[in-house]
Amino acid sequence: MPSLAIDEISIYDNTSVLFDEQLSLRLGLVPIKADDLSLFSVPEECECGGAGCPACQLGMTLTAEGPCTVHSGDLRFADPGVKAAFEKIPIVILGDGEKLMLEGTVTLNRGTVQVRWQVGTQCGYKNLPDIQISDQCEGCGKCVDVCPRKILVIEESEGKLEVTDPTNCSFCKLCVNECEIGAIKVVPVEDVFVMKIDTDGSMPAKDLVAGAAGEIKRRASSLSEQLSELA
Ligand SMILES: [Zn+2]
Repeated sequence: MPSLAIDEISIYDNTSVLFDEQLSLRLGLVPIKADDLSLFSVPEECECGGAGCPACQLGMTLTAEGPCTVHSGDLRFADPGVKAAFEKIPIVILGDGEKLMLEGTVTLNRGTVQVRWQVGTQCGYKNLPDIQISDQCEGCGKCVDVCPRKILVIEESEGKLEVTDPTNCSFCKLCVNECEIGAIKVVPVEDVFVMKIDTDGSMPAKDLVAGAAGEIKRRASSLSEQLSELA
C-alpha cells in the first residue's frame, strides 16, 4: 500500500548536535498523511517517467532556530493537504543560537522499497473463538473470576453464564479448566479470523486493509495480462 515519506533532503545549515545523516533518518521516518492520496503517483509509475513532476514530487522545508525542540509539526509542505500524521514527534533539541535549515522532497512509494513508506506497523490474526456453554452449567461463576479478559458474566435475572465479547478471548482455556462439570468448551472457528492491524498513523487501519486488497487485485490483473501476452 503506497504512502508518503520524505525521500531526499538538502541541508543548508545544521549546527545542532545531530549529524546530517541522523537528522535525515529521523525525518524519513516521520509518518505523513494526505487529504487525498490518489493525487500522488509513485515516481516509477508516473507519466513523467520518474524524472520528477508535481504528481510524483512534493516540496518540504524545515527552518528553526534554538533554543527550542523541533517537532514534526514544524515541517512545512508545499501542498496544504499534506501534513505530518502527528504534530509532536520530537526531531532534535536546538540549543541557544543553533540553527536548522533544510528543504527536501516527499514521494509516494511502498514499504517493499524502504521501511519509511511502510504504513502497517503490526499485524496479527487468530481464529474466531467459539465459546460453547452447555445446559449443564449451574452458573456458579468460578469461570467468571478466572477469565483474564473479563468476557464472561453471570446474567442477573436468570443466573446463566453469558459471553460478552468472544473476539477478545485469548484461548487460554482457564475457564475450561476451572469448570468441574465440564460445561464450557472453547473451540476455534476454522474459517473465521479476527485480525488486528496497527498503522503508523498516516491512514486508518480500515483504509490500509481496503487499499492493500486493491493493490493485490491490481497486481493480480497485471500478472494475468502479462501471462496472456505470453500465451
Ligand atoms: Zn512525475
